[in-house]
Amino acid sequence: MNCRTAEGMLTKYLKHELSVKELDEFMGHIESCEECREELKTCFTVDRAVRLLDLEEDSTGDPDFEKLFEQDLKRSRRYLANRTFLRFLMIFCGIVALLALVIALIIYVL
Ligand SMILES: [Zn+2]
Repeated sequence: MNCRTAEGMLTKYLKHELSVKELDEFMGHIESCEECREELKTCFTVDRAVRLLDLEEDSTGDPDFEKLFEQDLKRSRRYLANRTFLRFLMIFCGIVALLALVIALIIYVL
């Protein structure tokens, strides 16, 4: 993925509208490209600040956007890791089910 594509995905990332494949590619770029990471951090901060304004003045103190940003990246990474694990688990279960079927067939034939 190049910077231009990544920039085009910033808004969708913030709205959590990226598909798993898009998110995977986007995160890969963000982790390797300092410029896009900074750009994302800026957009993230603006996005959160606007949302806080919408919530009126009931928040206590200044929110730590840097920390929130890191948490958001971590959450996205965890989401991707869970998806990968889930896919692995489904393939594994599929293989086990197939093996069970083959064994049952062998026992039946013998
Ligand atoms: Zn970039």
